[in-house]
Amino acid sequence: MDEYITILTFTLPQDAYLPKALLESEGVKSILKDEHTVQVYNFYSSAVGGVKLQVKKSDVENGLDILEKGGYIKSESAEEKKVEIVHLNKETNKKECPFCQSDNIGKMKQANMLTVIAYFLLGAIFPIFKTSYTCFDCEKTWRFSRL
Ligand SMILES: [Zn+2]
Repeated sequence: MDEYITILTFTLPQDAYLPKALLESEGVKSILKDEHTVQVYNFYSSAVGGVKLQVKKSDVENGLDILEKGGYIKSESAEEKKVEIVHLNKETNKKECPFCQSDNIGKMKQANMLTVIAYFLLGAIFPIFKTSYTCFDCEKTWRFSRL
């Protein structure tokens, strides 16, 4: 008998259907555990840990990979995205992405604890590191730095 391993949990059963379908479409068999319990006793959802999306032990790596590519799991590398330093000059347009020139960019407030700590420790010395930008088209993250 195959052992099934939880690779993702959901509070609501309906949230699990798309990632499950994605796994199936890639040929990875998956099951939803506790689905019935959650549907009947919705308010117990958090108590039973939500709906568990499970795959065979041998499919875990593959399954995680598929879910990551599908955007259901944020990889550690995505969370600790490399921040590029862009040096400002007279021609720099801060309203567009310096890498792909898209204007589909956003400013990011730092919520990362390390950054917050670094800010408190070093903020007075490196005030330029307060805001970083992210491009929604090429997904790069950068900060502007004055030379
Ligand atoms: Zn870009």
